[in-house]
Amino acid sequence: MNNYYTATVGTRPEWPTLDHDVTVDVVIVGAGITGCATAVELAERGFSVALVDAHSVGWGATGRNGGQVTGSLSGDNAMLKQLKKKKPSHADQFVWDLRWRGHDIITERIHKYHIDCGLKTGHIFTAWEKKDLAEFEKMVEQAHTYGMQDTVSLLTQQAVHERLATPLYHGGVLNTKNLHLHSLKLCVGEAQAAHSLGAKIYENTAVTAIETISPERVHVVTRKGTLRAKKVVLAGNAYHRLMRLQLGGYLFPAVLGNLVTEKLSAELCQRINRDDNAVYDSRTVLDYYRITHDNRLMFGGGTNYSGRDIDDVASHLRPALEATFPALKDVGIEYAWTGKAGIVINRIPMLGRAKAQVYFAQGYSGHGMATSHVLAEILATALAGDFERLRTFEDFWRWRMPVPATAGSALVALGMRYYQLKDRLG
Ligand SMILES: Cc1cc2nc3c(=O)[nH]c(=O)nc-3n(C[C@H](O)[C@H](O)[C@H](O)COP(=O)(O)OP(=O)(O)OC[C@H]3O[C@@H](n4cnc5c(N)ncnc54)[C@H](O)[C@@H]3O)c2cc1C
Repeated sequence: MNNYYTATVGTRPEWPTLDHDVTVDVVIVGAGITGCATAVELAERGFSVALVDAHSVGWGATGRNGGQVTGSLSGDNAMLKQLKKKKPSHADQFVWDLRWRGHDIITERIHKYHIDCGLKTGHIFTAWEKKDLAEFEKMVEQAHTYGMQDTVSLLTQQAVHERLATPLYHGGVLNTKNLHLHSLKLCVGEAQAAHSLGAKIYENTAVTAIETISPERVHVVTRKGTLRAKKVVLAGNAYHRLMRLQLGGYLFPAVLGNLVTEKLSAELCQRINRDDNAVYDSRTVLDYYRITHDNRLMFGGGTNYSGRDIDDVASHLRPALEATFPALKDVGIEYAWTGKAGIVINRIPMLGRAKAQVYFAQGYSGHGMATSHVLAEILATALAGDFERLRTFEDFWRWRMPVPATAGSALVALGMRYYQLKDRLG
């Protein structure tokens, strides 16, 4: 079936395939949201940049995701635990800023570069089980200590059911700072912004090798041309296989499914989701959904942690969709697709250097829309000479599986199936 984002992205530029040699300051490999956000950050700072993708801008997870920009951050507890041992006075604020900085960057960028991506605000994080509510209360209390009284509030079960026409959930947290949007339009918009600042963009240009020539010289090899640069940023996430010696064993691909229904009437949209919030639940392997700008329900879930594709996504997700919204029984499904997210074992996003000249940002464990923007800013700051926040990430300890990616994925799948079962049995 077709991908809704590619079908509705509208007119977009087609950038050329690289067919000659090019010299720039920085080459970015991968033009998803990480690569495009990094290109904007670097171009704004005056770097000459080339952004290359094996397919097209936004072809990877970015053009396939749920479009939810959440303040939840993968690996936050693991980060806090490690940071509290090293920099106790900075730990809480560091992690809190990571949660929200991405939202500010995205909204500022949308306004600055006039990116039309159907931006909306408001999320409900729903409690799948009653026992989740104690955790939800703590979450709201914490947000209020950081001054978010106006944007974050606890919802009783009844308050959730007034907003969502579903028999599910025991309560929720309403967050009006969180965003939802057309993720491919945002990505293409950021690519266009970088291009307007002088960045060169090449599509259908797969990078086959990275040759480090000297501490300040690196060659990025493609079939018909070589990009010569001082530095490289790897932004291929779950889709790239470069620098395996340094990066293999840390990140495993999980396949997630997503579908979009036929157009619904405005009245039905309002009935099932009164305030047009994006929603996700509290399970480890969760469902997430939102109403698109053209009145369809986008519904995602069905994660396959083994990295293998999901056959017939629409049939796979339909039971969960209908259990969520009985009013949508037998609704037409017009789009369904899968994508790969990069999962890291302790879920701490990966940011650092594989070699002195080769930087990377990847592994957001399903929370990449906001995090990618924060890491892009940290990368650009480091490339401009300030390494402080980059080093904080480099100092995090991470699991490395001494096994090939496929075997590693099987272990991750096993672990995740345990959590899935635990969720089901309560
Ligand atoms: C179905 C699904 C739903 C999700 N929902 C959400 C959500 O609601 N909210 C959220 O925050 N996150 C969500 N995520 C996660 C989010 O989409 C990712 O974290 C984010 O898009 C990662 O962006 P990226 O740019 O790092 O990688 P990608 O978007 O995957 O881009 C990587 C790019 O690198 C290119 N590439 C790879 N290797 C090479 C090479 N050798 N040469 C040239 N190019 C190469 C690929 O072609 C690809 O375009 C979801 C993910 C999926 C799959």
